[in-house]
Amino acid sequence: MSGAGAGGALGWLPGALAGLEEKGLRRELEPLGSMQGPVVELGGQRLVNLCSNDYLGLAAHPRVLAAAAEAARAEGAGAGASRLVCGDLPVHRRLEERLARLKGKEAALLFSSGYHANAGVPAALTGKDDAIFSDVLNHASIVDGCRVSFARTVRYRHRDLDELSDLLAASRARRKLVVTDAVFSMDGDAAPLAGLVELCERHGAMLYVDEAHATGLLGARGGGLCEELGLSDRVDVVMGTLGKALGSFGAVVAGSRLLCDWLVSRARTFVFTTALPPAACGAALAALDVLEDEPERRARVAALGARMKAGLERLGFPMGEVVAPIFPVVLGDERRALRASSLLRERGYLVRAIRPPTVPAGTSRLRITLSAAHAPEQVDGVLAALREVLELVPG
Ligand SMILES: *Cc1c(COP(=O)(O)O)cnc(C)c1O
Repeated sequence: MSGAGAGGALGWLPGALAGLEEKGLRRELEPLGSMQGPVVELGGQRLVNLCSNDYLGLAAHPRVLAAAAEAARAEGAGAGASRLVCGDLPVHRRLEERLARLKGKEAALLFSSGYHANAGVPAALTGKDDAIFSDVLNHASIVDGCRVSFARTVRYRHRDLDELSDLLAASRARRKLVVTDAVFSMDGDAAPLAGLVELCERHGAMLYVDEAHATGLLGARGGGLCEELGLSDRVDVVMGTLGKALGSFGAVVAGSRLLCDWLVSRARTFVFTTALPPAACGAALAALDVLEDEPERRARVAALGARMKAGLERLGFPMGEVVAPIFPVVLGDERRALRASSLLRERGYLVRAIRPPTVPAGTSRLRITLSAAHAPEQVDGVLAALREVLELVPG
């Protein structure tokens, strides 16, 4: 036995894991027995899948799958190196052009994931004399990106423009960067983008918007929240993921040509990692085609979302702020959320309990997400099951 045995250097692990277990904070992997879809197989059970971010049902779309295979055949299974060394493939360029257009920006640069983009871009835009202003509910990858920068990070209350205005006015930083989720991943609500744009312009601050849950969903063409509000020109840096509504993997940062040129030299999570595999890029390109050719997918998930929202509100959960197919059913206590999740599962519905540190302490919740591939009956079904379950897990 190596380190994990009693007295080994990893001897602290059993106790630490037991501590997580006791607090209802232990996380465990569970292998799926099927492809991503509205129904998945898990532990030998078929479950309605209400926790994927595959909002448009594109991860299993035949055109997307075929394009992934074709890109691998044409350009290889792996890129072989970072973009800067010898991994800069034609499919990367094609995808960047498409994504720049989707985002209404001059240029775009691919990152290996949304996590990589958020972990690397804030540090590339700031230094020790600078300040980053970050919404307290921003995604963990943004929190980490702020942490690895040399800038001072100031967190402002969720969507609080007044507080942010005061903080920006008081800051003596050389450069200021405001960072926000466009749609908050665990609440489904939107950033007050028009107000943020105005504040940033007034204070000469750069604005970075993470459109992970808006890309493919919001805006006339699925460009995201910036497109929906007509603010694409006034947001300096727009990030979007390819792994959610686009059903693939990877991420994009869009902005001016100069911004992208700078990131190519200075974003460490771009420079020091292998370029995206062609299959992921081919899949994303096909997903963008499907987004254009099958607009009914977006309409369908919107209609299902309206049905879910109304149903949850009837159960007493306010959903007024939700703008994406993400529905937070806040139950408070970690174990209550876990218990509700497991009772829903007994009834055939896969809904995950989201606990700290993903969400603030005391706001553990069920996070229900929808896809265009769901049927209205599945929405009604989970609402009925939830009604039963809530009686079994009193607050
Ligand atoms: C999922 C998510 C990310 C990370 O994107 P990946 O491509 O999955 O690494 C970043 N930001 C937000 C808001 C997210 O929800």
